[in-house]
Amino acid sequence: MSAPFQRHICIFHQIQQINMGVLDIVPTGVITGDNVLKLFTYAREHGFALPAINVTSTSTAIAALEAAREARSPIVLQCSNGGSAYFAGKASSNEGQKASIAGSIAAAHFIRSIAPFYNVPVVLHSDHCAKKLLPWMNGMFEADEAYFKVHGEPLFSSHMLDLSEEPKPENIAQVKAYCKRAAPMKIWIEMEIGITGGEEDGVDNSGVDHTQLYTTPEDIWDVYRELSEVTPYFSIAAAFGNVHGVYKPGNVKLQPALLGKHQEYVKAQLKTNNVKPVFFVFHGGSGSSVEEFRTGIKNGVVKVNLDTDTQYAYLEGIRDYILNKKDYLMAPVGNPDGADKPNKKFFDPRVWVFEGEKTMTKRIKKALEDFYATNTL
Ligand SMILES: [Zn+2]
Repeated sequence: MSAPFQRHICIFHQIQQINMGVLDIVPTGVITGDNVLKLFTYAREHGFALPAINVTSTSTAIAALEAAREARSPIVLQCSNGGSAYFAGKASSNEGQKASIAGSIAAAHFIRSIAPFYNVPVVLHSDHCAKKLLPWMNGMFEADEAYFKVHGEPLFSSHMLDLSEEPKPENIAQVKAYCKRAAPMKIWIEMEIGITGGEEDGVDNSGVDHTQLYTTPEDIWDVYRELSEVTPYFSIAAAFGNVHGVYKPGNVKLQPALLGKHQEYVKAQLKTNNVKPVFFVFHGGSGSSVEEFRTGIKNGVVKVNLDTDTQYAYLEGIRDYILNKKDYLMAPVGNPDGADKPNKKFFDPRVWVFEGEKTMTKRIKKALEDFYATNTL
């Protein structure tokens, strides 16, 4: 082949890469199965990650979707166990995980119906499920199976199983069993290995010895080898000094570069050319530096959990509004402009709740920038 022709192909290839975006490979709305695999593969190849935003209401889900629409990015929306129960109604009993099951299913149907309106691909995910919460997972799986019978795809795109508190062989065996159940529906499974510090949904690891906060390459290979026997649809949340919730900087040494070592190790075992065979998930992202996120992304992180930061962002808009408009909110009628002046336009929830949505949207847009996800559609 002549040199000029080679050059021509090379430029053509570059143009193609520049013009090609996420919407050339997956549709908008909630995506499942091979589309999730395609999206995460594309993200890993193109060096970006999606923030996974915990949603607890239609309001927080909308705030996240708005961020994705404005930034022209796909997004992951996830319901935690507690967030799902809240979605069903905080005053409800959660005996037998019934509220969490009902709430996560309600959230899923809401997100499924509204996501196409926002014109972005959405991965619909359930967050941490520890061993004692498995009845919740089983309830969601039943909903997936029922939905699959009618629509040929599961209700949720993916589920997260966190059995990292169990001994490693048990953790892997139980996750593998769920992968087997998920495989016919092509549900993505996210699993956790190693200990993430801090506290979330009743799992308190804040007292754990710091040396246990790092997963080894051998652990990653054990998971990869076992799970890939039954499904290609899985990702691993490895511990690299992450902590759930925000802690004072310097308390824990985050080492996202370790993920690169894991990729190298798995690559060597597989004897593959793929330099990043593993899909990694970054847990406990709140409070981490942009540099730490980007090191993780360079090493195969495709999803970053962000909860604490967006919770605080949601408060900010509402807090500032209430503090600034205090004198217009103390009674339905009567404010500094006059004793008979109505305050309806100040206390309407569409006004002050929206202030929280706006600050949450702004925070998520920053995350999309930080993770190189902006303008990837
Ligand atoms: Zn975790």
